[in-house]
Amino acid sequence: MKYQLTEGIPDALVIHCADPRFQEAFRAYLKNDLGIRMPMIIALPGVTSHFGMQMMFPKNWYTVRSHLKTMTDRHDVARVVLINHDDCKGYAKIADKLGGLVKVPEWQRKHLHGLAEFIRKEYLPHASFELYQAHIVEKGSVREVEFEKIL
Ligand SMILES: [Zn+2]
Repeated sequence: MKYQLTEGIPDALVIHCADPRFQEAFRAYLKNDLGIRMPMIIALPGVTSHFGMQMMFPKNWYTVRSHLKTMTDRHDVARVVLINHDDCKGYAKIADKLGGLVKVPEWQRKHLHGLAEFIRKEYLPHASFELYQAHIVEKGSVREVEFEKIL
């Protein structure tokens, strides 16, 4: 069995969580709805939390920054997409530091904006930024993923 190699120039930097439940949905959304053909993906558990918790967990934040630097040095992409999601285990782990689980969605938004601003300033001053929250929605007995654009 052989698989297609995607060649060309990446058209977006995409940063999202590594949660295995969301990977199919993320991939399909990027391709079908956002029209991204060749994303450079950084997938880390609780991804924007590392921006938010940089004082408390500097090592994690250092790792995120080094990934960002490597990828943006290689390709000066014009488009950046950041995605958080509902029921994030990475955020659940630090919820006590954020004022409880009920406060998590609010912090996810703040961290999404904060990380976007950081990337703009440090690495990609000319890029356009799109922020999303992937929601879990119930449809009968089926649970699906729906994306909300965060402004
Ligand atoms: Zn997550």
